[in-house]
Amino acid sequence: MKITGIEAIHLRLPELDAKRCDGTQDTLIVKVHTDEGITGIGEVDSNSEVAKAVIEAKSFTLIGQGLQDLLLGEDPFQYDRLWNKMYDGTTYYGRFGPVIHAISGIDMALWDIMGQATGKPVAVLLGGLYRSKVKAYASNLFPDTYKEAAQMAEKYVTLGYKAMKFGWGSFGFDPGFDLGMIKTIRDAIGDRVDLMIDVGYRWDVQTTVEMAKRLEEYRPFWIEEPLSPDDLAGYSRLAGRVNANIAAGESESGRRAYQRLMDEAKVDIIQPDLARCGGLTEGMKIARMAADRQVKVVPHAFKTGVLVAASVHFALSIPNGFLVEYTVTDSPLTRDLVSDPVEYKDGYLCFPDRPGLGIALDEKTVRAFRVG
Ligand code: MG
Repeated sequence: MKITGIEAIHLRLPELDAKRCDGTQDTLIVKVHTDEGITGIGEVDSNSEVAKAVIEAKSFTLIGQGLQDLLLGEDPFQYDRLWNKMYDGTTYYGRFGPVIHAISGIDMALWDIMGQATGKPVAVLLGGLYRSKVKAYASNLFPDTYKEAAQMAEKYVTLGYKAMKFGWGSFGFDPGFDLGMIKTIRDAIGDRVDLMIDVGYRWDVQTTVEMAKRLEEYRPFWIEEPLSPDDLAGYSRLAGRVNANIAAGESESGRRAYQRLMDEAKVDIIQPDLARCGGLTEGMKIARMAADRQVKVVPHAFKTGVLVAASVHFALSIPNGFLVEYTVTDSPLTRDLVSDPVEYKDGYLCFPDRPGLGIALDEKTVRAFRVG
């Protein structure tokens, strides 16, 4: 089998709110075509225009190549060599960020191709099922008012969620407001649902230590990215001083960044995003490193049903997977892009027992939102 082309499809909602940190307003879908008529689907979480350019760019030097040029004529089953070929062929302008994001989407599509060609679900190809379903946490942004927060939290409990996370938005600017917000949510959901808080880099070390202490009575399961993703020394100062788990890593790309997060920053939970970190091939290497260190892995996913499917196959096939992010925003890209999404049932995402990622794109939605 040979790769004959890579399509990078940019989808965007007509009304964008750039002030919101909401990645479901836009996405980059990757289709990898082969000479046997099988097409693999992947997703990239990045600046879509930049990542699309990385895929389509014409090569100008051995270490500054475009990703499509690197893969034309290659066999998708040789995924690990192809990953390194893409990495080595872009070192001049890549190694992190948008290039690894673009590699992630292509790598995801290669796994989808391998699954379709062999008739096996990606989770089986990745090494096997450790579980048949994985807990999904409802994920959304903090609203502006306590009342809205209580309504959202109650709705998620009604929908069966056993865990939920709020992040960014109105949170992290005023300690008094923040404490009231978390009290409101905990009161709304009761004691039996896990609650996670995503601070969105808005605190420093001292604020994090103080706030974590004051938040203890509301039992956050984790506090996410209180500090800048680059502040590894700051994170290491939190270790041992904060009782709640510290989670981080959605912004990272490449396994060495996760190694530093675990060994230098000493975080408790890493959150690789399979549409950013290097895809499933790199994600499996990251998960293995984490398992050796007894660090938990919870994939970050705030895009469409393509990334949800990849994240579920991943979390089912690693020993240290137990939870997946599941956005509950009402973006039509999140809800409608995939015509056969992973089944959500009573707080869990079920094993999609179908070849490959087990999804198909709804081409009507693609046509409705395609801008490039
Ligand atoms: Mg986050």
